Amino acid sequence: MSHERRKLLAGNWKMNMRLAEIEPFFQKFSAAIQQKSSTSPEILFAAPFTQLSATLAMARTLGLAVAAQNMHEAASGAYTGEVSAAMLTDLGVRNCLLGHSERRQYFAETDAAVARKSVTAIKSGMTPIVCVGETLEQRQSNQTFEVNGKQLEAVLTAVKTAGLPASRDAWYPGDLTDSLVIAYEPVWAIGTGLSATAEQAQEVHAFLRRVCSEVVDSAFANRVRILYGGSANLSNVKSLLAQPDIDGGLVGGASLKPADFAAMCL
Ligand code: PEP
Repeated sequence: MSHERRKLLAGNWKMNMRLAEIEPFFQKFSAAIQQKSSTSPEILFAAPFTQLSATLAMARTLGLAVAAQNMHEAASGAYTGEVSAAMLTDLGVRNCLLGHSERRQYFAETDAAVARKSVTAIKSGMTPIVCVGETLEQRQSNQTFEVNGKQLEAVLTAVKTAGLPASRDAWYPGDLTDSLVIAYEPVWAIGTGLSATAEQAQEVHAFLRRVCSEVVDSAFANRVRILYGGSANLSNVKSLLAQPDIDGGLVGGASLKPADFAAMCL
């Protein structure tokens, strides 16, 4: 029997949103999600480090979750410019994007590093949102499954070896309780306006769920939420979320528009 997975809409603000913009954003966003019901998707905002406190202050009053966009794998030490999991949990941040393609592409994050960060995050009581995805070149040379499988396997194997917890208690209302969330983000669809079709995304999501079953077990595969990311917007979100293995979205550009993102979350 298939497990009921509540949808999750996660906004990735990337390096956007000045402090002065946060309160007006949430005023508009909260007005637009008035009709949210208990069956509406869970909502999360991934904010830049320096904007996390202000985002938390606003999001908590609305019962929404907040994530960082990156963290270091080590507990502490000589890593100038980096931020640890404990520093995030000190603030009350319990979720973190890991392995976003922009981190892999511009900051040379490897599968192994993303795997180590995922283990650190889970051990720290956080929920990592682990991003995987193929480039256009890889898709065109029929490497989509191989690349996504390899990226996900690296994380799941490391997490399994470390002892994957089923879930954890929420620290704040609205916080995620998953051990981890997966986001499939084809690199060619991110910020390009060229979303994967619902069928293309579903095919990869079903594959990723099979990888979860093979590497961990079927109970985990059945429970884990797999989000789609890549030019998701108000006009394509419904058809993407209607797919059986698509459990929500990781939304970049459209999450900066409060009315649009709220409408996607209803
Ligand atoms: C993202 O940054 O994770 C993303 C999916 O961006 P966009 O929605 O703008 O393509």
